[in-house]
Amino acid sequence: MTGAPGRRTGAVLGIVAVGAAGLGILLGSLAGQATPQAPGPVLRLSFRALQPGEPVLVFLESDGSVRSASVSFLGETAELEPINGGAASFALVGIDVQAQPGPAVMMVKIVKRGGALENVRKELLIAERKFPSTKLQLKSEYVTPPASAEARIKREAELVALALSVVTPEWLGDGPFVLPHPAPSWSNFGQRRLNNNVLQSLHTGLDLRVPLGEPIRATNAGRVAMASDLYMGGKTVIIDHGLGVFSTYGHMSELLVKRGEAVKKGQTVGLCGSTGRSTGPHLHWAFKIFGARVNAEGTNPLASRISLRINCPFR
Ligand SMILES: [Zn+2]
Repeated sequence: MTGAPGRRTGAVLGIVAVGAAGLGILLGSLAGQATPQAPGPVLRLSFRALQPGEPVLVFLESDGSVRSASVSFLGETAELEPINGGAASFALVGIDVQAQPGPAVMMVKIVKRGGALENVRKELLIAERKFPSTKLQLKSEYVTPPASAEARIKREAELVALALSVVTPEWLGDGPFVLPHPAPSWSNFGQRRLNNNVLQSLHTGLDLRVPLGEPIRATNAGRVAMASDLYMGGKTVIIDHGLGVFSTYGHMSELLVKRGEAVKKGQTVGLCGSTGRSTGPHLHWAFKIFGARVNAEGTNPLASRISLRINCPFR
């Protein structure tokens, strides 16, 4: 992945601002340079692209009248987390890598201090996105796992799903996300994988070319939701960042944290390896937001390599 570091700004984020309940429309940047506005809560959506595999930041500026708010999008509902003493609130939602392109409705439900309800409906259009495909040559026991491994694979998939199903109702992250390692990536999020010429899987993470044994760092603060040796994923750590956001680190040679442990941003959680279904040392790095599989890397080479950097206003 090449990029011009000087251009790694939020400039590529798409920003849509919607005045709640028919109030004035506000167009401005996430940094808050706003034109004079009508009073009332203002909803802003921030994203790089409305496409499969992209996260969307939902940001609600309160005028003091908002008690709570939630957003429903693509079958998931997220509570907005108050910040800045309740002056605003936010949630992250994701457009899954396999989401259907086309119209999609986002509903934001605002509960006012007096108890009144206000619904803000936003019609969005999810654009099509083409993902690359590749051929892999893997050991046959990983392409067609032996019957003896089937029960283990199924059990582990259930354990992973369980870990990802528990949503911490507060934000545990600490400022913007950072790379788990500075190594370049293969930019292979969403890649269709033909293993021994059989369409085997969709690659729902990003692979970084990290050398064997190098430390792998937590992309943000959170709590370890899983630290296990999995048949397919190898030695894997899943970090819960709160509000339905999880990061996963796979194929490591060593696990250096335990389930339930609080981790700081940048803390070493393991060492790079090639365990599980892997063709050589690398880091498999993946994000899920309420189950939606999103890309950790910018689609635009000039963009930030970390899509979830959009969270940086929330220090
Ligand atoms: Zn991978």
